[in-house]
Amino acid sequence: MHIDGNGAAGMFAEALGVDITTAVLTCAGCGDSGPFAQAQVYDQGPGVVARCATCEAVLARLVRTPTDAWLDLRGARSVRLPLGPAAG
Ligand SMILES: [Zn+2]
Repeated sequence: MHIDGNGAAGMFAEALGVDITTAVLTCAGCGDSGPFAQAQVYDQGPGVVARCATCEAVLARLVRTPTDAWLDLRGARSVRLPLGPAAG
């Protein structure tokens, strides 16, 4: 059983301070890219795991301890965050 990326938005927002659902992740496994909202999120284990919707490789893993957040993005070749026009 998995949920979509929207279900993990709160945890990632707490850790990163950005809305991860609109970020575009490129899978290091198959090269596909898509918005985080379309990733397959598993939240049954310790922390949450986001898997590629195409090949099911792990894109991102986030574990929240009482004091810290551990973010593992090794499965994402790149993460593109839409920020709007650059300041300055
Ligand atoms: Zn993939």
